[in-house]
Amino acid sequence: MTNRTISHIIEPQNAIEGAGVLLRRSISPRATNEYDPFLLFDHFAFNNPLEGPIRGFPMHPHRGLETVTYILDGSVNHRDSLGNVGVIGPGDVQWMTSGRGILHEEMPKRSENSGNIYGFQLWVNLPATQKMGQPRYQEVNSSTIPVIEKDGVTVRLVAGELDGINGPVTDISASPLYMDVKLAPGSKFIYPIPSGHTVLAYVFEGAGEFGSEVVESVSMVVFNDDGDQIEVKSDASGKGMQFMLIAGAPFKETIVPYGPFVMNTVEEIQQTIAELRNGTFIK
Ligand code: MN
Repeated sequence: MTNRTISHIIEPQNAIEGAGVLLRRSISPRATNEYDPFLLFDHFAFNNPLEGPIRGFPMHPHRGLETVTYILDGSVNHRDSLGNVGVIGPGDVQWMTSGRGILHEEMPKRSENSGNIYGFQLWVNLPATQKMGQPRYQEVNSSTIPVIEKDGVTVRLVAGELDGINGPVTDISASPLYMDVKLAPGSKFIYPIPSGHTVLAYVFEGAGEFGSEVVESVSMVVFNDDGDQIEVKSDASGKGMQFMLIAGAPFKETIVPYGPFVMNTVEEIQQTIAELRNGTFIK
């Protein structure tokens, strides 16, 4: 087995989205589609009371993609045009497949105990054949996410397979792996990755070594397609590390991103905007 090496490391940049929400963004949708099938990764970390009241993401549309919300602290109140209403709480995941379209509202709320909000939103592309499909949600309660602990490594498995155990999110076009990996100081984690799959690791706590390269939080690590596994070690004298491991099969299709829509052609984007204007967006 050989380790995948690091292609490059992205330092997340502060961005303002929705109604003035401050977040850390490491990748965002581009026509170059470098991280195919992944489009965007945002990190919500509203941990400074000086940031003031939290505004959110009022009603907005999506078409042609999936949004994956994973909350570690605080919560997000959610409602949409299909009549779904719910709260994404600590440890919960919402995997939303927009298909041909939904309108939804996402309103983050600080934890009553810590006063913090901490979580991530990943956007995953849909292949051309699924972009106009039926919208679908997979709401995953924290208690149903398998936690696998071994030799100082704790994995919360959202999607994908580890040691014969499958994550609760299934039937996603990109065959994604999405897991929260925590390493105690001086521990090691090795995970096999199919050839051709895109792999990203978002290191948000501590530091460690991927192969022989040291990576410190907060960083998005992008791997080359040159091996069949990821190997990571946490520093023995440090505090350990925690990261989201993200992998999936690229679709290798042309994409045209436009705000909350990601389609394959300019005509499909124009059609989407026309439907929003004339009230036929929601089918
Ligand atoms: Mn949204």
